[in-house]
Amino acid sequence: VGAHLLSGAVFEPHALDELIPDWKEKGAPLTTPAREDRFLFLTETKALKSPFAPPQMHNPGNYIISLGNLARWMAGQAEELGVEIYPGFAAAEVLYDDTGAVKGVAPGDMGIGKDGEKTANYPPGMELHARQTIFAEGCRGSLTKTLFERFDLRRDADPQTYGIGIKELWEVAPEKSQPGLIVHTIGW
Ligand SMILES: Cc1cc2nc3c(=O)[nH]c(=O)nc-3n(C[C@H](O)[C@H](O)[C@H](O)COP(=O)(O)OP(=O)(O)OC[C@H]3O[C@@H](n4cnc5c(N)ncnc54)[C@H](O)[C@@H]3O)c2cc1C
Repeated sequence: VGAHLLSGAVFEPHALDELIPDWKEKGAPLTTPAREDRFLFLTETKALKSPFAPPQMHNPGNYIISLGNLARWMAGQAEELGVEIYPGFAAAEVLYDDTGAVKGVAPGDMGIGKDGEKTANYPPGMELHARQTIFAEGCRGSLTKTLFERFDLRRDADPQTYGIGIKELWEVAPEKSQPGLIVHTIGW
């Protein structure tokens, strides 16, 4: 869990406060409070510092975190409650009961060789059945999309809009690192 989450993030802890109020005592990896928001306008050769940052870029009370570490920690919390986690399995198909209600998911085929034939590792077909199935596939999930159509879930809804965000992960020389500093930039 967390192996795909390379990203850092600025984390607003309200939801975590509600879910696990004693997250501090339980050792949640929220260790770097946001200290300063710096807002820069970049030209090709200069970085001009704005004396103020727009309100939505103020982060007092928030934390700068590693999303991977947080997800790993939360997985441990969930497992302590008896949740079973199957990392590495993608749900490939929604399963329906006789009345047409969702009854679970089936993972995609595993143990298929390059030639498309089953290998010795091919597991027999597996189905996960549940009283409630929650689809949390993120933006435009492949199964969620089929549910939108089947149950007409987007009727009367605004069309979805998307933006692309790109993050880079930088290794910073320790003497240049300023824990708690968030730099927002626009321009070049
Ligand atoms: C560049 C960028 C920067 C961001 N920075 C911040 C930030 O600093 N702070 C902040 O609060 N938010 C930030 N966000 C927004 C935040 O990342 C998202 O709002 C949040 O991750 C959405 O969570 P989610 O659980 O709905 O979906 P996701 O995080 O997308 O999780 C969905 C998961 O489901 C898995 N999945 C999908 N389909 C299947 C399937 N069929 N079977 C099994 N697994 C499946 C995916 O692999 C993924 O792991 C940023 C987003 C971007 C793109």
